[in-house]
Amino acid sequence: MVLAIDGPAGAGKSTISRMVAARFGWTYLDTGAMYRAVTLLALEQGIAPGDSGALGQLAENAEISFQPGPGGQPRVFAGCREVTEDIRSPEVTAAVSEVSAHAPVREAMVARQREAGGQGDVVVDGRDIGTVVFPRAEVKIFLTASNTERARRRRLELEGKGVAVCQERMEQEIAARDDFDSSRAVAPLRPAADAIMLDTTDLGIEQVVDRVAEIVQQNQSG
Ligand code: C5P
Repeated sequence: MVLAIDGPAGAGKSTISRMVAARFGWTYLDTGAMYRAVTLLALEQGIAPGDSGALGQLAENAEISFQPGPGGQPRVFAGCREVTEDIRSPEVTAAVSEVSAHAPVREAMVARQREAGGQGDVVVDGRDIGTVVFPRAEVKIFLTASNTERARRRRLELEGKGVAVCQERMEQEIAARDDFDSSRAVAPLRPAADAIMLDTTDLGIEQVVDRVAEIVQQNQSG
């Protein structure tokens, strides 16, 4: 079965998806990492973020793959090169929304995501999983949290990696990325009509994982 988890930046999608996948022994597909990998390659190759044709070509040819990493955290590869850390850089984060708004880029990524998701039980997280990539997913969840809380989580995550950031700046960046992702013409960020909304502002990680697991189990037994 496909469990689709969508939502804005910093809502906890990747952590929750990874943990739910581990709990059920399912595969986890981080589609944001795929868009980030294309963005990293584009920046390195000097392709302008507005060059739809060249970006589409790049997305089509890029060999993006995942391997299980420590703590269930997937390691990301572009060809033979590991890019797990590089795709989280501030430069990639700043450019990824513009790159992923191009239809040819999305077409290339969606085709691969469908291929990966068509094989067994999988948790897929992103922005358009329940609406575009897997509109028939058995379970769709839209994770949200307040802007302040999402920025706080991202700030703590970055601080954990030794990067100092201020809360206000984080809130602005997150809001700008969400605006961009929500207002693009192709596959904008929005909940599917049949998605279950889950506000995680006041919930701990374990509580969210339990709630999602409960929803999955209800679906399986119903
Ligand atoms: O999930 P993450 O924050 O790593 O995603 C990075 C960016 O990739 C998002 O802000 C969005 O622009 C893009 N993305 C997308 N569709 C997806 C997943 C991510 O457009 N399914």
